[in-house]
Amino acid sequence: MNHPLRLAENPGLSSYDLTGYKGNRGKNFYEEDKILQRVIERYSSDYKPDHKKAMLDHLKGYGELVGGILDELTEASHKEGKYGEVVKYDRTGNRIDHIAYSHEQKLSRKISYDYGIVNLDFHDEWKFPFTDLHRQALTYLANQNGEGGVTCPLAMTEGMIRVLQGIGTEEQKKKYLPLVAGKGSYSHFMAGQYVTERVGGSNVGANRTIARKGENGKWILNGEKWFCSNPGDLWVTTAKIEDTETVGLFLVPRIKDNGELNGHHILRKKDIIGSKGKLTVEIVYEDLEAEALGRPAHGIANLIRYVIRTSRVHVGLAASGMSRRAFMEAREYSRYRTAYGKKIQDFPAYSRELAEMRILYAALVMPIFRGIDWTQKGILAEQISTPLMKYRSSSLSSQITHRAIMALGGSGIIGDYTCLPRLHNDCIINETWEGTHLIITDHALGAMNRAKIRDSFVSELKKNFDSAKKYPELKAAAQLGEDLLFDWNKSIEEKPREWKETYRVDLSDQAYGALVLSEFLEQAVFDRVSGSKRSRFDSFAKGFGAFLFRTIPKATGDYDSFRLEQEEVDEIVNW
Ligand SMILES: Cc1cc2nc3c(=O)[nH]c(=O)nc-3n(C[C@H](O)[C@H](O)[C@H](O)COP(=O)(O)OP(=O)(O)OC[C@H]3O[C@@H](n4cnc5c(N)ncnc54)[C@H](O)[C@@H]3O)c2cc1C
Repeated sequence: MNHPLRLAENPGLSSYDLTGYKGNRGKNFYEEDKILQRVIERYSSDYKPDHKKAMLDHLKGYGELVGGILDELTEASHKEGKYGEVVKYDRTGNRIDHIAYSHEQKLSRKISYDYGIVNLDFHDEWKFPFTDLHRQALTYLANQNGEGGVTCPLAMTEGMIRVLQGIGTEEQKKKYLPLVAGKGSYSHFMAGQYVTERVGGSNVGANRTIARKGENGKWILNGEKWFCSNPGDLWVTTAKIEDTETVGLFLVPRIKDNGELNGHHILRKKDIIGSKGKLTVEIVYEDLEAEALGRPAHGIANLIRYVIRTSRVHVGLAASGMSRRAFMEAREYSRYRTAYGKKIQDFPAYSRELAEMRILYAALVMPIFRGIDWTQKGILAEQISTPLMKYRSSSLSSQITHRAIMALGGSGIIGDYTCLPRLHNDCIINETWEGTHLIITDHALGAMNRAKIRDSFVSELKKNFDSAKKYPELKAAAQLGEDLLFDWNKSIEEKPREWKETYRVDLSDQAYGALVLSEFLEQAVFDRVSGSKRSRFDSFAKGFGAFLFRTIPKATGDYDSFRLEQEEVDEIVNW
């Protein structure tokens, strides 16, 4: 018997507060992003006007793509049946070990590649330098759609370009740069970096893959790689040089010069929690033909300098981009959803939650771009801030995306309602990829232990605390930051090695807290020096101070004086 739904008469099916709700789809993600605009403005003040305009136009154009077609394609390519698959053989039985991606995934990569997010300096019509500021702003924007099958490959492709430009031979540059960066290349972010083996990813020295010298200057590799993300056209890899303990760095094309498939077998696609738009697989090398990249004896140093350093900056940008999107989604939802007769954004406890999410993602974006600026200027403090931000941004972004999921109630958990579950799962991968927290904080500690680097970090931060202290309303936050910094410095100078190694996460959290306060205060002072009576960043510093009181035992003082007033909360949320 037929029971038609009587839609018109059923009160439970009439339209409601979220009918037709589409989240942030269709917005220009650059034009929406006040924190990014601020960063761009601050760091491009010495650009020539035509260069600055061209960069802003390019960023705005990408912001439109990210909020529009790329958001749609990312959603469409992250559904069952649309994920990539390993194709072992062609129809006539030849082994091809090829990855087949959906049309949506390929188009999404092509649009971003052709737009120049990794290779604008290879576009003839681009007449200016492709600065790190510009490049990394694009990376951050791309990550507002989650990993999406694009941004992990983007990180590895940028690492590939940098290592080729840095230590590649002239022949390698001529042969491979057009493939990975050239305009019109068919290879859209198809570079990889394979280091981790079954015996471990943290301890690269334990690699069991062996490289022996072959003919014509080539090397022959036998072994395995246990986590290979984005298997494609060209990758860098590590292997022990035969009969030595030296780990060398090598370059591997998927297809050999003679057109044959290079000696590798893809075992299987890994069943990963997130970052599913691209594949991660296991690979066995069987007489794989490789080229030395730089001097083999400098393998690990070059890997860290060119490849891993780039990826760590990308992890930080990814974490910030995804956190920004999480805040956007929570705020947008709160503008529509009603409960108990009012918009949920009007509950003070809810808007406070939104404000903290915004403060926390700003507390990732701003120090990361500061670190990029320090690198450009050769300021040693960057050697602490880069690993610190990889650790802190990836751990905080999992918390921010989680909080955003909670902010949407049940809808936050539904994958075809919101991108948040996907973003959250991508964030978890970022915590491990390119180094677990304990490994990264160990690297940060290594830099902290070096007096010259530590002095640079202290003097950069102290400069900002000193200028902020001149303004009564900034004094408390400056004092909090300075106390954290001095206590951290004292611990590094005085505590025994074992203690520091054991408590390196605490030391990193403390250094991060001081770094963020110094950054927000620097922005607040800048606004005053530029003529404003107060700055929005006063509230960011205050609210971040409150977060520190709740999360770091070393943060001591009057917690109540750091609680944000409702007007400050509203200003932070609605900016
Ligand atoms: C989705 C995904 C994609 C990836 N893609 C790639 C890729 O493309 N290429 C690649 O090379 N790798 C890739 N990886 C691997 C990743 O980099 C490693 O998983 C990571 O480096 C950790 O190595 P591991 O898994 O072997 O853990 P282990 O190194 O075995 O570590 C296990 C645990 O021991 C801890 N530990 C290790 N050493 C110490 C120490 N000295 N002090 C205290 N604790 C310690 C770690 O913190 C961790 O908690 C990928 C991983 C994932 C999840």
